[in-house]
Amino acid sequence: MAKRDYYEVLGVSKTASDDEIKKAYRKLAMKYHPDRNPDNAEAEEKFKEAAEAYEVLSDEEKRSMYDRAGHSAFEGGFGGAGGGFGGFSAEDIFSQFGDIFGGAFGGGGRQQRQRRGSDLRYVMELTLEEAVKGVKKTITFTAPAPCETCDGKGSKNPNDVETCRTCHGAGQVRMQQGFFSVQQTCSTCRGQGKIIKNPCNSCHGSGVADRQQTLEVTIPAGVDNGDRVRLTGKGEAIRDGQAGDLYVEVVVREHEIFQRDGADLYMDVPVSIADAALGKEIEIPTLDGRVSLKIPEGTQTGKLFRLRAKGVRPVRSSMVGDLLCRIVVETPVNLNSRQRELLKELQASFDGDGHAASPKKKSFFDRLFD
Ligand SMILES: [Zn+2]
Ligand SMILES: [Zn+2]
Repeated sequence: MAKRDYYEVLGVSKTASDDEIKKAYRKLAMKYHPDRNPDNAEAEEKFKEAAEAYEVLSDEEKRSMYDRAGHSAFEGGFGGAGGGFGGFSAEDIFSQFGDIFGGAFGGGGRQQRQRRGSDLRYVMELTLEEAVKGVKKTITFTAPAPCETCDGKGSKNPNDVETCRTCHGAGQVRMQQGFFSVQQTCSTCRGQGKIIKNPCNSCHGSGVADRQQTLEVTIPAGVDNGDRVRLTGKGEAIRDGQAGDLYVEVVVREHEIFQRDGADLYMDVPVSIADAALGKEIEIPTLDGRVSLKIPEGTQTGKLFRLRAKGVRPVRSSMVGDLLCRIVVETPVNLNSRQRELLKELQASFDGDGHAASPKKKSFFDRLFD
């Protein structure tokens, strides 16, 4: 069969502008697109012919070669491997020229994208110690997994599966509505692209069944609230597609002593008025054991002491944070008579001293009476 002239194919003149060529091709491609002309060999031919013409005429260099030598300019093929257009499928052409379809074809992406199961989320509660040091945990959950009876195929016999004739396996069909081309799920196969003639008795053709699964999850050291560990392919399984992923999301339980803020830990350290006033070396807990903290004489409530590198090494960091100790001076309660006696003596001495022993109180009253 003699090859038609490229200009004739696109229905443009030899002096057509790039824009005219593009418009003409777009019109033909829309008209003859295989999605709109299922099972129409003639339309597919026309589609390929138009694509080939556009490939040449839209390229300045190829167009001038064609103008000089006609089809013979490309005999023996061009564009490297394979040569010529003979082997092009509609998909190739589509992906190559997809950009000029704009929104009309959903940006040019074919619906051949592999189906994929949903990602699943598992919330794992950890103690602060587990989150900081890392832990291995076994989790049990129920999720769709490949049917064991049919090995995920959905049919009793693998030969019982045939490609849907309506959508040719795509699972989607295109409908023309006025100016718009609308993609719809194929009603014949309900989007599956396949028809199962003899479905598996266990899964009724779905290829999957809910199954209780047990997995060991390694939580790295330093994770915090909201961090997620991904277990690839452990999410929802689907027939003829890739399983989703399972995300284990960390929730850290509140700790009795420590509050975490990124790499740093905070804690309240209760101190008696005598220790705060006279100073003392006390022992405080850390996540790894105990350390001593020197409370200097005259320490006030709210004073923060920073213990370097006694905090947390976050999962994505190499720096260990600090432990911040906030002093809380405690008012003594349930006094015995001797203690009461001593405090009264102390009280009397303070009153005579004009608040010198209570700097905050002094400045408070000074301001009040100014
Ligand atoms: Zn179908
Ligand atoms: Zn089955």
